[in-house]
Amino acid sequence: MSQRFVVQVGDPILRKVCKEVKNFNGELAALLDDMKTTVRAEDGAGLAAPQIGVDARVVVVDVEEGFFEFINPEIYYTKGEQVGPEGCLSVKGKQGTVVRPEKVKLVYRDRTGKKHKLTAEGFFARAVCHELDHLDGVLYTDKAVEIYDIDAEGRRIANKADAEGRRIANNTENNQ
Ligand SMILES: [Zn+2]
Repeated sequence: MSQRFVVQVGDPILRKVCKEVKNFNGELAALLDDMKTTVRAEDGAGLAAPQIGVDARVVVVDVEEGFFEFINPEIYYTKGEQVGPEGCLSVKGKQGTVVRPEKVKLVYRDRTGKKHKLTAEGFFARAVCHELDHLDGVLYTDKAVEIYDIDAEGRRIANKADAEGRRIANNTENNQ
């Protein structure tokens, strides 16, 4: 198991519609193990294969409910709506507000090729939607109603105009 390099926005692999997995073999198992190592090292909630440069419909999701491996996943039911912040390991230094379904049901294969169904709600549903979008070349920044800069701790940075305004106001005060 080794940590892989996470490609950043601008890399064409992030815009590809990824290929379905046909062979549930050792190569797939090794990919999944590397994805787990990588998502944990990067402290992410999920990772899609194209983010490490692999053209395959494979994602991992690492949330409160557990660690999940989804191969050839498809959402077949959605319900409700949630509005919340979202980031991406391939779009460093930014976060956005994205509208997602509150609940999704998906069908997927595990690493042995066995078919499963699963229901995800809340943040888990958001993570599933975000990762599955990656398999179709879609980034959250395409859907976000707002995108903003964050600092290393993930805190929102006020936009430059606001920061500049405060600086000028402070200087004015100091000058008086
Ligand atoms: Zn992402």
